[in-house]
Amino acid sequence: MNFAQQHLTSLLRRMSLDAILFWSLENIRYLCGFSGSDGALIYAGEERIFLSDSRYEEQARAEVRGAVFRKYIKKIEGIVHGLRSLGVKRLGFEASALSWESYQKLRERLPRVSLVPLAAQIALLRARKEPEEVEKIRRAIAIAAESFRDTLPRLKPGVREKTVGDFWEIRMKHRGGESSSFPIIVASGARAALPHGKPSAKAIEKKEMVVIDFGARHEGYHSDETKTLVLGKPDHRQRKIYDLVRKAQEKAIRAVRPGESVRRIDSAAREVITRAGYGNFFGHGTGHGIGLAVHEAPTISPRGAGVVKEGMVFSIEPGIYLPGWGGVRLEDLVLVTGRGCEVLTYLSKELKDNII
Ligand code: ZN
Ligand code: ZN
Repeated sequence: MNFAQQHLTSLLRRMSLDAILFWSLENIRYLCGFSGSDGALIYAGEERIFLSDSRYEEQARAEVRGAVFRKYIKKIEGIVHGLRSLGVKRLGFEASALSWESYQKLRERLPRVSLVPLAAQIALLRARKEPEEVEKIRRAIAIAAESFRDTLPRLKPGVREKTVGDFWEIRMKHRGGESSSFPIIVASGARAALPHGKPSAKAIEKKEMVVIDFGARHEGYHSDETKTLVLGKPDHRQRKIYDLVRKAQEKAIRAVRPGESVRRIDSAAREVITRAGYGNFFGHGTGHGIGLAVHEAPTISPRGAGVVKEGMVFSIEPGIYLPGWGGVRLEDLVLVTGRGCEVLTYLSKELKDNII
């Protein structure tokens, strides 16, 4: 049994649930292998039913493992039928994924079944990665990083941000990526102060810094990485802000080990930036888990909860964003190992290697 199966077995027992209804496509894929875009999974320990409609019949028969496939015409009716066939009286459901409308329909159709919302209890379901999942993330990282190398010669003064982003996305597909993890961020000059600046028609200019945030998807698994490039010799301020962010990132990476709290990892990075007087310009969390979703548990932030465990994969991505000036963000993915962590992303985040 893997981490997730053990977790669900004990959850069913602990909460006296007969089954859990999975609705989110990531959890469905994770638990039974189906990669299509509609369906539901009834998880009742050893008994599992995957339901979908006729569009996905062939795909479900080819992909689904560890669950029987049942076809429905109306989704709710199919689920109701499946639950009745298993005699389910107490059903857990994914509170963050089931819509209010579907919830109401289920209640109407199953007046004798107690519906139990699950949120924190299943938030970490996919957080600890199995070795084969880590391999898929490594592959996604390599596709994105090698596509960056293909794109680098085009990153020159005068080129538009969007031209760079478009070319890069095509390279990722050529290198076998299913798609980009998210629209690539290319934010140059003052636009680099926007943490999620999407590529614009603005041309990149000499002496500017460019924040590039990119990732590829491979067999459903994502990568996510950020570099900040300087076009030409960095000035005093550029060097200072860059060094600060790099120091914050290194501190947080060094703090990662099994049993360490997510808040302590966040504060390892945040303290460096706050002490230097830039705390107000680092407005987001230090990191997020990644896998079948680009953003998943754990959340490495001042508002996060719990500790990190061996097998978790998450980003460490501090940044400083100064309105009117620009910004620096550096992002790597780490895998928690038995004693510390391994940095999975391999492109250099040292300033000297990012001057072009
Ligand atoms: Zn990113
Ligand atoms: Zn990220």
